[in-house]
Amino acid sequence: MGITHPDDIGQNSLLQKKLFAGDIDFFHIEKRYLRRNGSVLWGDLTVSAVREAGGKLALAIAVVQDITDRKRAEEELRLAATVYQNSSEAMMVADAGNRIIAVNAAFTQTTGYTADEVIGKDPHILSSGRHDPPYYHRMWHTLSTTGRWQGEIWNRRKNGEIYAELLTINTIFNEDATVHQRVALFSDITEKKKSDELIWKQANYDPLTSLPNRRMFRDRLEQEIKKAHRAGLRLAVFFIDLDRFKEINDTLGHDIGDILLVEAARRIGDCVREADTVARLGGDEFTVILTELDDVSIVERVARNILLTLAGSFMLGNEAAYVSASVGITLYPDDATVIEGLLKNADQAMYVSKNQGRNCYSYFTPALQEAAQARLRLANDLRTALAAGQLRVYYQPIVELATGRIHKAEALTRWQHPERGLVSPAEFVPLAEETGLIVEIGDWVFKESARQVKRWRTLHDTEFQISVNMSRHAEFQISVNMSPAQFRSRRNPYKTWSAYLQELDLPGRSITIEITEGLLLDADASVADKLIEFRDAGIQVAVDDFGTGYSSLSYLKKFDIDYLKIDQSFTRNLAPGSSDMAISEAIIVMAHKLGMKVIAEGVETAEQRDLLAAAGCDYGQGYLFSRPALAEELEAMLEPAR
Ligand code: C2E
Ligand code: MG
Ligand code: MG
Repeated sequence: MGITHPDDIGQNSLLQKKLFAGDIDFFHIEKRYLRRNGSVLWGDLTVSAVREAGGKLALAIAVVQDITDRKRAEEELRLAATVYQNSSEAMMVADAGNRIIAVNAAFTQTTGYTADEVIGKDPHILSSGRHDPPYYHRMWHTLSTTGRWQGEIWNRRKNGEIYAELLTINTIFNEDATVHQRVALFSDITEKKKSDELIWKQANYDPLTSLPNRRMFRDRLEQEIKKAHRAGLRLAVFFIDLDRFKEINDTLGHDIGDILLVEAARRIGDCVREADTVARLGGDEFTVILTELDDVSIVERVARNILLTLAGSFMLGNEAAYVSASVGITLYPDDATVIEGLLKNADQAMYVSKNQGRNCYSYFTPALQEAAQARLRLANDLRTALAAGQLRVYYQPIVELATGRIHKAEALTRWQHPERGLVSPAEFVPLAEETGLIVEIGDWVFKESARQVKRWRTLHDTEFQISVNMSRHAEFQISVNMSPAQFRSRRNPYKTWSAYLQELDLPGRSITIEITEGLLLDADASVADKLIEFRDAGIQVAVDDFGTGYSSLSYLKKFDIDYLKIDQSFTRNLAPGSSDMAISEAIIVMAHKLGMKVIAEGVETAEQRDLLAAAGCDYGQGYLFSRPALAEELEAMLEPAR
């Protein structure tokens, strides 16, 4: 019996004994044998007894079949099943028709679905909705061409939670190369992704202000330089250093200093567009990248706004603190074309600002720096211009096209600068808007115009009563331009203005305010309220430069606009059949349908006047009739008798 494996001897001999004893006539076991070389052989043993008449065992027939291979395969299967069930990696097997046929315990743990709930279903039940159809389309394309797909994918657990998994799908093929099964292995990598993201954020963002840090700033600048190069556009880099921040930090403590930095970061962010970058380089140093500059004047506006907003008080706990900023500006590609150069320039320009007494900005480019300084001087001069009596209102007549009569005039402000001569409003109005002086100047223009309209309306009652032509002067109207900054100012001009009209015993209708299209679209509800207050007082509203901005018909209706002023750019190119003619005609028809009157600006030739009149335009204004003139000059035009 030396060939039976020692471990199986016991069982084997027990059965043999029973056979000899006559208890059984047959037995069948699977047992191990030892080959001569000591290796193990699995045998399937069948033993049958042949007995004599008395029941005594005559002989036993034993048949042994070698089942070593089968045994090994079974063992492997068992092992595989154990691994499959105990694996920490989730597994899912689907058939050729993409129906789930098996899942393991880790699958249930990750997805929350038990085997019963998913078997027979499409794996699609796990979809998170985060990937678009083309994503799955690409996955299937790869699977059907290579048999394999691996990637990160967002799926959804039974409880609705979305998670990230690293997924590998393999295909088991039939002999004839058709798909037998697909096996998906995946593990939950949500936590890992979160921590990767955290690490990335820590490496690229400033934890205090959440702004990009120096490293991220350099990355962005590099990308923006490439973009600017491709688009043939400029970009600007600002270095911003807070003045006297150290004092605050030292006297109020670092916690308070931190609050100020966070608030400063927010304020700077409010001054730039979405596409621009604000970064914190460290300490109280910030930087800004202004991209895609087709108009460099934006740079200066942003710089002024940053200075203005940072100069406002910071409420730190119960204390109000004040800082200011020194800004250095450099332009790509004018000043430098590589990062290092731009950084050096901006830094240098920032020190120029520091040396000039802080709370100012400096350009690296000398010519720009000079122009900026000139504008700064002009802005300073403007502060005293009103008090010094350097501002003057000119009036440009607005003519009724059908009759040629002058019923209205537009008030246009001029600045007689003591050294520079006449400064155009196109130059000083933006400065007045940025410095806030526009509110004061606007009030003054309004009062001047109101006094003037009073005079022209009363003239009618006295001197010119007999003149038929003058009969409408009692209705004379002066329009004043109002900039959006006046609407946004905290003080409501309407109150003082309507009080002033009452003082002069003038109806609201004697004044029209001219606003820009953009104001109508202003999301700020208080702007709309102010406009409506003007309307309620009977003051009429004209939309200036119509056709150059974005207007919506519903806004024109909502605000009950009285006049549209066709912009000069359309009038300039009026010719029969021209596209500007078509636009003008369309504006006129639309305005009339909505109950509005139309004033064409910039009428310089008789042909333009005739075309406009033929198109039904109500009023014209332009050099053809008169340039903006002094009140006395206009008055002379109003006197037909003389
Ligand atoms: P606007 O309100 O569109 O005024 C019309 C401008 O076109 C005026 O320029 C006027 O002189 C000019 N103009 C009139 N007729 C003709 C013409 O036939 N041909 C040409 N080429 N131009 C003509 P101005 O006086 O230089 O004013 C420029 C802008 O400044 C005004 O545009 C207005 O938006 C603003 N502005 C002027 N005064 C004030 C003011 O007191 N307050 C405010 N907020 N803005 C003002
Ligand atoms: Mg105007
Ligand atoms: Mg205009």
